[in-house]
Amino acid sequence: MQRLHARYPFLEVARESVAAAAVDLAAVVEQDRDVVDRAAERVHTALEDGHTGEPRLDARTELLSYPVARVLVSLVDERVLVRRYARAEAATAYDRFTADLADTTELKSVETTGLDRETLLAEFDLESAVRETDDGYRVDVGAYLTLAADLWGDEWRLVNRALADGEVPVDEGELLELLREAIRERIEDGLPFEVPEAIATALEAEVEAIRDALADLDLTREIDTVVPDLFPPCMKALLDDVQKGEHLPHHSRFAITSFLASIGMGTDEIVDLYRVNSSFGEEMTRYQTDHIRGETSPTEYSPPSCATMQSYGDCVNKDDLCERIPHPMAYYERRLDDADDDDLEDWREARADDD
Ligand code: SF4
Repeated sequence: MQRLHARYPFLEVARESVAAAAVDLAAVVEQDRDVVDRAAERVHTALEDGHTGEPRLDARTELLSYPVARVLVSLVDERVLVRRYARAEAATAYDRFTADLADTTELKSVETTGLDRETLLAEFDLESAVRETDDGYRVDVGAYLTLAADLWGDEWRLVNRALADGEVPVDEGELLELLREAIRERIEDGLPFEVPEAIATALEAEVEAIRDALADLDLTREIDTVVPDLFPPCMKALLDDVQKGEHLPHHSRFAITSFLASIGMGTDEIVDLYRVNSSFGEEMTRYQTDHIRGETSPTEYSPPSCATMQSYGDCVNKDDLCERIPHPMAYYERRLDDADDDDLEDWREARADDD
């Protein structure tokens, strides 16, 4: 089992190498603690941080932890976990292949390259759909629409692209993002699946722990209370910026919009908030909000985790509670739980009373 397979376990060649080694997953989950621990870590880190954690040096452990992680996700059988897990695996792969490609460019060394662009394109049958040009790439519109379907941001909309001769121009960075989407789709497509009884029994403790982690994050619970005083510091700051009419970068806009949607605000209410912005465009704001809320997309987006917020510079004014939670939603839920019911006046009602 090669390092490449462990680094990119979703590749067909990695799956084949596991098959060729005649690995019996039932025996692995019963006898190989290292593999099971790493698999559980993959899922927990995916859930909490949007990545898959530190890889093990031993290629066998690292590679086998991938099919076992998929088994765990299947056994938990929660849509939100499947989505988060697939996104995290794809994000990790993206970090790795962008690093691999940079290595090739800077060091001109084929040996240091884990995966090249051609191999990735071939993996997803995209060789003939992507054409290199002098100033970037052109992607067949059909392939583009499939790959960009779940990407948030105006720049991915076909109307904002110089479509010509059935091809969409993209730059290098955008092509890599589309490849990340291809990986995410492959990972998500096959999940969840039926797991044989013997394997399920051996993994009961791990499945229980993942269910607990999901419950702690409470991503599946319905919240319908908007009390900005109890918002996490990051979301308070972003909401302030929105209300001051400041222009937010995409990632910040996504963060506050998905947060407000997750705590029960409807599209009209969110769109109203953005009206103060001098460059407000109702149609675009409504489109983006509907997309995030899952009205016009296959996915109802969750707000980013604290780790992601930090990486984008959106984590500001951290307080004590921030040290104990992995997610802005967990922060808000904790504050709601701790608050006196009498103090929970919903902002939407207060605004309606003022009007
Ligand atoms: S730690 Fe998390 S909840 Fe706190 S400010 Fe940063 S991103 Fe927000």
